[in-house]
Amino acid sequence: MGLVIMDEMEDKTSVLSDESDVEVDLRRSSKIQPENRRTFRWRNGQAVLAVPTSSMLSPRFDLSLCRALLERDGFQIPVADFETPLEIALDVPSVRRYLFFNSSLFHFIMAPILYVVIWCAVFSTLHLYLSVTDYWVLCLSVSLVSIFLTTAIIVILHYSNKEINMNIDVRLIQVNERLSRHKLLVGVADWVQNCTGSLQLFIVYWDTAHCLRALTETLEEMRFVRDEAQAKALQLLLTYGAVYVKLLVSERLPNSTHRPLRSRRNHCTTASLCLCQYIKTKVLRL
Ligand SMILES: [Zn+2]
Repeated sequence: MGLVIMDEMEDKTSVLSDESDVEVDLRRSSKIQPENRRTFRWRNGQAVLAVPTSSMLSPRFDLSLCRALLERDGFQIPVADFETPLEIALDVPSVRRYLFFNSSLFHFIMAPILYVVIWCAVFSTLHLYLSVTDYWVLCLSVSLVSIFLTTAIIVILHYSNKEINMNIDVRLIQVNERLSRHKLLVGVADWVQNCTGSLQLFIVYWDTAHCLRALTETLEEMRFVRDEAQAKALQLLLTYGAVYVKLLVSERLPNSTHRPLRSRRNHCTTASLCLCQYIKTKVLRL
């Protein structure tokens, strides 16, 4: 099933680079009304856009380009619903630092540099205090200590990044609140391409209406009053939207073993678990 998502995502992302395909696609569907064409073309869970960070030295997402590309795909989103909330969510020092430490520049250049610097520091320190006759023994122990220290630093960075990663999901709640009106959800995920990991901003098509109805029914069964249940359901959908998108695009969604894939309850045919099902199993523990 993961392959299907991959194929579709590759389809969509390759469309971005291939102008002529888009033209053909648009001409073919030109008889359909724009609104219908949008729902006709997109299915829940399909990645509409995947954007990597633009610059290597100060990684950030080119949001105006994103909006232009979305507009080309039939999603007319005002700046107030896209750039403004996304800038508030992502343009903070902790997130910028996170983007940098997760960039391929850091992994391929900074990590080896870190190792060399630690190696030199440890070597010069040990050399001062120890009078080792066997030079290779000194080099070997220095290398081992350096490997240990570099790994420790990377592990610490990894854990602090995990925390910021969760922080990003929380920050994106406000953005998804606005984007869900345009039947879109946003998430930031690690993406491995050509053996290099990078962070990408994913925008996924998602019509929350079915999920909202299903989740409201579930909450009503849990003795919530109708209005209360609906408000709570909407809040849950928005809160877990970014986490869900992240897991969906990186194919890390838990498998639903006891539910058939295309069951009536699943509002997303491309993933093993729908957003409402994810909330039911992971949050409400049903
Ligand atoms: Zn659903």
